[in-house]
Amino acid sequence: MSYRLPTTVVPSRYDIRLEPDLPTGTFAGEATVTVTVREPVDEILLNAAELAIRSVAIEGPGGRTLEGAATLEPDTERARLRFPERLDPGESRLRLAFTGILNDQLHGFYRSTWKDAAGQVHTLAATQFEAVDARRAFPCWDEPACKAVFAVTLVVPDGYAAVSNTGIVAEGPAGPGRRTVSFADTIRMSTYLVAFLVGELEATEPVMVGKTPLRIWSVPGKRRLARFAQEAGAFCLRFFEDYYGIPYPGDKLDLLGIPDFASGAMENLGAITFRETALLVDEGAASHNELERVADVVAHEVAHMWFGDLATMAWWNGIWLNEAFATFMEMVAVDAWKPAWQRWVSFGVSRAAALGVDGLRASRPIEFPVEAPRDCEAMFDLLTYEKGASVLRMLEQYLGPETFRDGIRLYLRRHAYGNAETTDLWRALGQAARQPIPPMTEIMDGWVFRPGYPVVTVAEAAGGLRLSQRRFTYLEAEAASEERWQVPVTLRASVGGRAVERRLLLEAGEADVPLAGPVDHVVVNAGGHGFYRVRYAAPLRARLLDALSALAPIERFDLVSDLVALCQAGMLPAPEYLELTARFREETDRNVWTVLVAYFGYVNRVIDEALRPGLAALVRDRLRPAVARLGWEPRAGESELERQLRGDLLRALGTLGDDPEIQGEARRRYARYREDERTLDPNVLPAVVAVVAAGGGEAEYAEFLERFQRARTPQEEQRYLYAPAGFRQPALLQRTLDRTVSGDIRSQDAPFVVRALLAGVYGRGLAWAFVKGHWQTMARLYPPSAYRRMYEGVTALVSQAWEREVRAFFPEHGIELGGKTLEQYLEQLRVAVRFQEREAAALAAHLSSPSPPSGERTG
Ligand SMILES: [Zn+2]
Repeated sequence: MSYRLPTTVVPSRYDIRLEPDLPTGTFAGEATVTVTVREPVDEILLNAAELAIRSVAIEGPGGRTLEGAATLEPDTERARLRFPERLDPGESRLRLAFTGILNDQLHGFYRSTWKDAAGQVHTLAATQFEAVDARRAFPCWDEPACKAVFAVTLVVPDGYAAVSNTGIVAEGPAGPGRRTVSFADTIRMSTYLVAFLVGELEATEPVMVGKTPLRIWSVPGKRRLARFAQEAGAFCLRFFEDYYGIPYPGDKLDLLGIPDFASGAMENLGAITFRETALLVDEGAASHNELERVADVVAHEVAHMWFGDLATMAWWNGIWLNEAFATFMEMVAVDAWKPAWQRWVSFGVSRAAALGVDGLRASRPIEFPVEAPRDCEAMFDLLTYEKGASVLRMLEQYLGPETFRDGIRLYLRRHAYGNAETTDLWRALGQAARQPIPPMTEIMDGWVFRPGYPVVTVAEAAGGLRLSQRRFTYLEAEAASEERWQVPVTLRASVGGRAVERRLLLEAGEADVPLAGPVDHVVVNAGGHGFYRVRYAAPLRARLLDALSALAPIERFDLVSDLVALCQAGMLPAPEYLELTARFREETDRNVWTVLVAYFGYVNRVIDEALRPGLAALVRDRLRPAVARLGWEPRAGESELERQLRGDLLRALGTLGDDPEIQGEARRRYARYREDERTLDPNVLPAVVAVVAAGGGEAEYAEFLERFQRARTPQEEQRYLYAPAGFRQPALLQRTLDRTVSGDIRSQDAPFVVRALLAGVYGRGLAWAFVKGHWQTMARLYPPSAYRRMYEGVTALVSQAWEREVRAFFPEHGIELGGKTLEQYLEQLRVAVRFQEREAAALAAHLSSPSPPSGERTG
């Protein structure tokens, strides 16, 4: 079956008029599409889904008008327009009248609802077209290469705001209680970037960034939460105009927070839509993580205005480049805006997540052929965003940031208002580099068009070091592999007390690095930009652990992350790893702690219930010194990152570490917070809530539920949305599960609450039973992308019995998750169960030893 539309008739301009009727959930529309008929045809094929086409006519080059008839083809989401005679070649105007539905599925033209302070429900209409849902709002050539100009008119109730991609050029009455709002012509762009919003929305005053007015929109009452995003947006807009060397391609920029939104945000040109938590925030009451999230998403979407919107992939196989590049630029911009946040260090956490998925046999190349457009929806994952961005970062560091930027500028100038392929970017970067380096494609193909990545083994050899590479996988880790990558390696060594740095491109299976003397210690992947893992021979590893203070935070992060992966792959015994975590008691970087704590959590899911106290004791031993250093109260002069670290560690110590002192103190501090909210630092509050939940009962549960219902910010709502998943009493966990299908929780959030319950050791059994009983309801209620991601939770069902059930469940019910998603979840589960089979006895011995791990204190 061919999904591509024929190119015999192509559009250049759409004049669209839409009249949504919010109470009935329908809309009526008219479109006049200026098309070029390239050869005589008597039918036109274009995309349409869930639309009823009422009338069809075409006015040809000579002024001759033909009436046509439309037939819908639901399987391919197309409409076939037939005409009684052949159409003459040349420019023609196709006129269509149609009706459609404002659905509740958060795609196409859809309805979103919100409650005001009095509890009254209000409705707004919004759009989400990427990848292939513009066809649900108007008949169109819904392919990214079919770029056209859009002139939109919306007919809306009085008192409702109307927003689209460009500024308003005309407004007027349209009968009783309604008015017409017409928008300026857009640039030539793809259908998936068109947006319409109609509702009782309110906007901030615009800030001018050069010639561009920038506003933040929200439902009424939330305008006070817009300042931070507006500041971030203004910085990014200025930053990208400079970085790309091209003015912003729109006439205004609106950022809109939508109460129901399936993904994080969507880069509609000039009218970017966001999930509220990614846009609206109270700067004074938010944690560092919450602010970083807003800055990241705003930067990401604004970066797309050029990369994606101005120059666009030719087909959906190129979506990775859009997303990888926007993710990369998000780091560059946020790092420039808030250098103290050290965004490239925290990016290590994202890179490690991508290495996790890409270490599976069921990984996939970043770019792969896409036939049916819906297949590209499985591309919106860690490999596209995080591996893609990691690979671009590695290339940027290899070429040098300025050369890289020059290549991007060249690429954008060349493909502005048009479309491009991945190879076009490599070509532009190669031209910008103007130096005798191997052609870009040779270096990049292995990272982009093949799955996986290498583990670089480093050992001492006569006269220096020997590096070797092989593909890293968790299963069959020691199996022979002939695969090779062109690996840009930076290494830093201390040789006889002198620091030396070496850069090389490791192309073959092995390479020797001569060094003038004995190696004290060496860091491979110095600077941490490489997308590969490092396995040090035991003596080198021991010496590196003795020299931790000589490593940058990102290098310590990578060291721990790689050791964890080797452990999961069976190349390092788990007790040995747990022992060496004692070397990190003095650690000060929050990202290093993130990976340390995450792996304690992994072990917790693997071990027998009886061993949990032993693991908790080990966690206390590792974390207490750092918590003692940081205390509960923020200190003058400390950084935002230290404040966030305090929160992270208190939470881990009070939950995973089951520390009674921390639990008692959290309860006391929460009680004081209820009297006076100023008594808790915003970075500590989420930790206190989590710790109180872990030990909490009916009363706490009821209180958190109430706080969820009357939350004042999206972040507060989020906190008390997930807090119930952290309780331990089965009856309370069951109540939370019931709420995921009762309509109490928005469908954009409910699947993630289920995932959180599946991932917790106290809730996973109940949650799994619940999913088995309610998957059909969930499939109907939840947005498809979020429904798929919910099942990631099954990777925490670590036992042979559960694994058998999980493996049977999906084929039994014919549940498909698209792409390789399900295979990846099943393999992650296999890796964990195999780890359990392999390490259970050794962990039991290690964690149940009568003497607590060194350093444990009592009381
Ligand atoms: Zn994006």
